[in-house]
Amino acid sequence: MSDRRFSVAIDGPSGAGKSTVARAVAARCGFIYVDTGAIYRTVGLAARRAGVDPHSGPAVQALLPGLDIRFDYGSDGTQRMFLGGEDVSKAIRTPEISMYASAVSAIPAVRAFLLDMQRDMARAHSVVMDGRDIGTVVLPEADLKIFLTASLRARAGRRLAELAAKGDPSTMEQVQQDMAKRDEQDESRAAAPLKAAADAVLLDTSDLTLEQSINAVCRLVEARL
Ligand code: C5P
Repeated sequence: MSDRRFSVAIDGPSGAGKSTVARAVAARCGFIYVDTGAIYRTVGLAARRAGVDPHSGPAVQALLPGLDIRFDYGSDGTQRMFLGGEDVSKAIRTPEISMYASAVSAIPAVRAFLLDMQRDMARAHSVVMDGRDIGTVVLPEADLKIFLTASLRARAGRRLAELAAKGDPSTMEQVQQDMAKRDEQDESRAAAPLKAAADAVLLDTSDLTLEQSINAVCRLVEARL
């Protein structure tokens, strides 16, 4: 196999199964999985902890130079996030921090601050990277771009099951409402909005099992390799 890096960009709305599919595809192909949402979540957590309004561009921007954000990978390939040296991988997975992440990610200075971190990963490794703007902004030259989506109902059902497994008491109505709000925020922002790249393959997972979604993406990767 050549040592040329191969990159797969997976974008789509929250709960479409991006991270689960991307992680499994990366493991099968021997690539690194980069969860860019986790990086935005870490900035969101930093804003929350600093008591900063996540919608305020100047206030969030002022925080950025002082932020020490890093990530590494556990032996099972799981991406762990660190803020100022503290492992915040769990702390970033709450509904409140999802909304903080969505708010801070609309600020152009935040996106610029995180761009090189994401591109450096794809320069150094073959990656499966998931997010909202990977195929459009971060890796416009990606070898394969996928826009993974599913109906709001299917996505909210999956997210509810994830939250319930962690003991979170959110209801279907709350999850569906939060998700619709986050989608709307992510799609309507001026900076790198959530949208499919013109050359992305559209994959609707509403009626697919996880295994079927993973197989579908793996077939696309094999065809391009
Ligand atoms: O993917 P996840 O739900 O963890 O992402 C959290 C939030 O981070 C998203 O709602 C979105 O606003 C933001 N995000 C982004 N660009 C990315 C990845 C995530 O704006 N590439």
